[in-house]
Amino acid sequence: MSIPLLPPGDADLRLIVFDWDGTLMDSPRRIVHCLQRAAVATGAPERDEASLRNIIGLGVQAAVQELYPGADEAFVHQFTAAYRACYLEAEDAPETPLFAGVPELLNWLDAREVLLGVATSKSRRGLDQALEATGLAGYFVATATGDEHPSKPNPAMLRCVMERAGVKPGRTRMVGDSVYDLEMARHAGVPAVGITHGVHPPQRLQGAKPLALLPNLAALLEAFRQAERTT
Ligand SMILES: [Mg+2]
Repeated sequence: MSIPLLPPGDADLRLIVFDWDGTLMDSPRRIVHCLQRAAVATGAPERDEASLRNIIGLGVQAAVQELYPGADEAFVHQFTAAYRACYLEAEDAPETPLFAGVPELLNWLDAREVLLGVATSKSRRGLDQALEATGLAGYFVATATGDEHPSKPNPAMLRCVMERAGVKPGRTRMVGDSVYDLEMARHAGVPAVGITHGVHPPQRLQGAKPLALLPNLAALLEAFRQAERTT
């Protein structure tokens, strides 16, 4: 299978921007657990697991509005605080390992001098904690977080990463597991690859017209290898 991962003609691929949760880190179970805990803590009606997984990838405030339409500002604030406290500190919440193949993929791209970035709906504090825990901070030249930008699929976050890296949309690729990532990329003029090991099923991701849908990061690395061989 040949995927048009690389820019046409002589243009080099210069930047890959990754979503974090559900793309590089297997964190959706912890996110669902903490959304459920935040509902209990705030006395809000609980939502089923499918509804909770569906909003993973939005900024937390946009996610709360999606789960509880018409929620007032005080509730959003209270829910967000309860969610973040659980995610950052709860010792009984599910662990968040990296997905298989993360170091191999990042090392391979890094060795080819492709710049790497992150555009995540996590808070800055949450991303910093995850980068430190995984030892991956040194790979990324630019990162943008959900508390610094409007929620995906607004393209501001992705544009910020491209600007900091000094790379144009045509030489950038976005990699994400949710339709919000793929739509954000489309709004920014950046071709995107969907990875289906995260929160949204293939048929939902396909609707956002990605360059390709791949089952995992090993398949993404293999696609890059093939694209390199055929150019
Ligand atoms: Mg995600």
